[in-house]
Amino acid sequence: MKNTTPPVPLALTSRVDQVFPMLTPEQIARLAVHGQVRHVQRGEVLMEAGEQTPRFFVVTAGHIAIVRPSGATEALVAVLQPGQFTGELTMLSGRRGIVRIRAGESGTVIEVEREHVLALVHTDGELSEILLRAFLLRRVELIAQGFGDVVLVGSRHSAGTLRIQAFLTRNGHPYSTIDLDRDAGAQALLDRFQVTVDDVPVVICRGEVVLRNPTHGQIADCLGFNEAIDHTQVRDLVIVGAGPAGLSAAVYSASEGLDVVMLETHAPGGQAGSSSKIENYLGFPTGISGQELATRAYTQAQRFGAHLLIATSAIRLACDRKPYPSQTWRSSKAWACTMGRRSSRPRRAVGKR
Ligand SMILES: Cc1cc2nc3c(=O)[nH]c(=O)nc-3n(C[C@H](O)[C@H](O)[C@H](O)COP(=O)(O)OP(=O)(O)OC[C@H]3O[C@@H](n4cnc5c(N)ncnc54)[C@H](O)[C@@H]3O)c2cc1C
Repeated sequence: MKNTTPPVPLALTSRVDQVFPMLTPEQIARLAVHGQVRHVQRGEVLMEAGEQTPRFFVVTAGHIAIVRPSGATEALVAVLQPGQFTGELTMLSGRRGIVRIRAGESGTVIEVEREHVLALVHTDGELSEILLRAFLLRRVELIAQGFGDVVLVGSRHSAGTLRIQAFLTRNGHPYSTIDLDRDAGAQALLDRFQVTVDDVPVVICRGEVVLRNPTHGQIADCLGFNEAIDHTQVRDLVIVGAGPAGLSAAVYSASEGLDVVMLETHAPGGQAGSSSKIENYLGFPTGISGQELATRAYTQAQRFGAHLLIATSAIRLACDRKPYPSQTWRSSKAWACTMGRRSSRPRRAVGKR
């Protein structure tokens, strides 16, 4: 039996109705058409943290627990009752899940594959609004409560540590930090992973992989930021840079049915992502932080099916042959994303009703 640390359930949040909404029987019936009923036994793990393909569950009987594993312990994130559903932003991005999903007692769930959830988000306006808002708010809560799968060990006086903090924060990835200058247990942790002070900042991914002063590309690889995206696929459109301009282009082109990939050196949002408050952006009369604007825009682009390759700099676009290959550089790797030929994706405006 594993130790369970004192629970800090997200359900304590003040926005509980939006973070963990209760679906109506009609909404559950619409989801059920795309999934299958599954009987679960008490204690059964439905999805493990770090699993590559996130799946979506709606509780119909019993309850399920969302926990964040950490070594031999687990921290309770939330308990979902009948009518409530799992999932957060990894459902859109296709990145590895951060939490473990376990049946708290025997019951039934409706299990829906990620691709069907994505299709629903395109076609069912009511469910799309409920799901996307919950996914976004859950990620915000995971970040706020440090329920990540990454531990950053470093010093707040070190440029390297601040660089990695900025990279994870700007990419909306939850993490916790151990400050060598403040945390008494820091040395014991370094000893456990056989790293010295000279190696910091150190990133520990999922409690397993230890990266010493890693590049952004190494962190992106370790966390699987890009692994759900086919780098070799011919696209209708390749957008270099995911600042406000690139994200806007992605939203408009993907919503018109184009198959779109963005290449981004750092994180979505560009310069605007570092702004504490933007007051002159159309549609936000009271202002919005750059990070929130970037997260919303990236989520919107993903909703229409656009992809984003992180820590991926474009270095060359060859225009002498079609489809045009655009070469990117990451660490020691180079690959080609190609564009210019019509993809097999059905062309259909998906963003308008
Ligand atoms: C602190 C701060 C506050 C600001 N506040 C405001 C404000 O309140 N109001 C306002 O109107 N403007 C503000 N701005 C300016 C605003 O952020 C910029 O005008 C806006 O971000 C420009 O958007 P962009 O997409 O054209 O370029 P950028 O935001 O510069 O985005 C370009 C993106 O492309 C990426 N990139 C570049 N080269 C490559 C490559 N070869 N391969 C892959 N990716 C690449 C970069 O990493 C970056 O993410 C602010 C800027 C800053 C820095």
